[in-house]
Amino acid sequence: MSDQDFIILDEEDTKEKESGRETPAENGRNEMDTRGQEKDKNRDDGYEKICFICHRPESVTGKMIDLPNHITVCPDCMQRSFDAMTSGSIDLSRLMNMPGVQFLNMADLENMQPRAQKIKKKKEKPKEFHQLNIRDIPAPHKIKARLDEYVVGQEYAKKAMSVAVYNHYKRVATDTMDDIEIEKSNMLMIGPTGSGKTYLVKTLARLLDVPLAITDATSLTEAGYIGDDIESVVSKLLAAADNDVERAEQGIIFIDEIDKIAKKRNSNQRDVSGESVQQGMLKLLEGSEVEVPVGANSKNAMVPLTTVNTKNILFICGGAFPDLEEIIKERLQKKTSMGFNAELKDKYEHDKDLLSKVTVEDLRKFGMIPEFLGRLPIIFTLKGLDKDMLVKILKEPRNAILKQYQKLLALDEVKLDFDDGALEAIAEKAMEKDTGARALRAIIEEFMLDIMYEIPKDDSIGQVTITRGYIEGTGGPIIQLRGQEVPRLG
Ligand code: ADP
Repeated sequence: MSDQDFIILDEEDTKEKESGRETPAENGRNEMDTRGQEKDKNRDDGYEKICFICHRPESVTGKMIDLPNHITVCPDCMQRSFDAMTSGSIDLSRLMNMPGVQFLNMADLENMQPRAQKIKKKKEKPKEFHQLNIRDIPAPHKIKARLDEYVVGQEYAKKAMSVAVYNHYKRVATDTMDDIEIEKSNMLMIGPTGSGKTYLVKTLARLLDVPLAITDATSLTEAGYIGDDIESVVSKLLAAADNDVERAEQGIIFIDEIDKIAKKRNSNQRDVSGESVQQGMLKLLEGSEVEVPVGANSKNAMVPLTTVNTKNILFICGGAFPDLEEIIKERLQKKTSMGFNAELKDKYEHDKDLLSKVTVEDLRKFGMIPEFLGRLPIIFTLKGLDKDMLVKILKEPRNAILKQYQKLLALDEVKLDFDDGALEAIAEKAMEKDTGARALRAIIEEFMLDIMYEIPKDDSIGQVTITRGYIEGTGGPIIQLRGQEVPRLG
């Protein structure tokens, strides 16, 4: 394509610019124009244009080229279309100048109204949230310190993760593929439901400002069977990166419930959702080129494809691995029952920390294939949450649930407090549900509904204290009126 072709498209712009440069007499008008333009800019409606061909938004592609009928195309796709025209043995672009030859019949576009040529712009991230720079990745202790602000406990997991992420992005930044090749730091997280596995990964991706795709291993099947094929995870990541391949290639893919694709024991049938999914994932985990559709989640003739290299994508797998404790216990007991330690056999019966003694051999016994485990070199465990940790989760993290409610009521100038007994009572209720910290929000929401409904009714209320009695249904909250202290037990 020659540069001239482009200039023609931008002709209007150019004219505007030329007329804007000019005579002093026009200065007044120009000033008004400029103000008008600024106004236009300020009149940002929160939407941005997307490319008709590749569906990427303007914030990613750069300035769109406007075609008739509100169709917008990004410079890359425009360039590609022209390249396609000129790359054949006949230079089609020359035909353009011949009388009677028309390449794009504008009249046809009348019937081709784009479905949506604008998408909602992403909100800018709040300024006070300082992200870490993956190109100049901070030392592991600094990464952990940031994780500490959000994730309660799980010290070992946070430490292991910080080191792995540090090594991973160091490897990406240096990209040394010489004699000493640094291994990928893919991770396997083992921990009970609600112990914060997903939350840790989400927090990490947010801190590092890298795209994150979360998938459930149970939805994956070998290509060709019903379900998502394995490469769909990369497609999800590309979508999370606004179809920016370069950003996607430095992202994180979290595959949850990985224990569900363990090899089925005693099964003669073809195992399309278990062992073969593990087999299918091997290449992805290690690093391979994957063809994925842009702007859609299935490949078909109408969707453009792009190639994503998974070499620098960090894969994190997580799972609860039920029954794994039994396997660990069995192994440990076998060891102690030999020789003089036979009496220690029961030692592991009530060991709460049993999971952390896991070895690759135990995971193989569980049904993970050795090649798969070999590609997840960092293995660590998360602890089940106890009452103290649940109480801390309620009040300590930067975005703790209590802080959120306090902020909401503070907008009505009402102070909200929870006494210690109330927090413990909520934690106790959550423990009963056995779903870790996941139950906390549901429990609190149930109790807060009445408070959030009643308090704004009465302007004179200045402070509310939630008590154990209120949570247990034996009493009410302590309400204090503005300017005076009148406890009222409901
Ligand atoms: P899972 O281990 O099943 O993936 P999640 O990460 O989804 O559990 O945890 C559910 C919710 O519980 C999270 O959204 C988070 O708010 C909270 N949570 C869990 N563990 C912690 C923790 N250690 N610190 C702070 N919040 C936590």
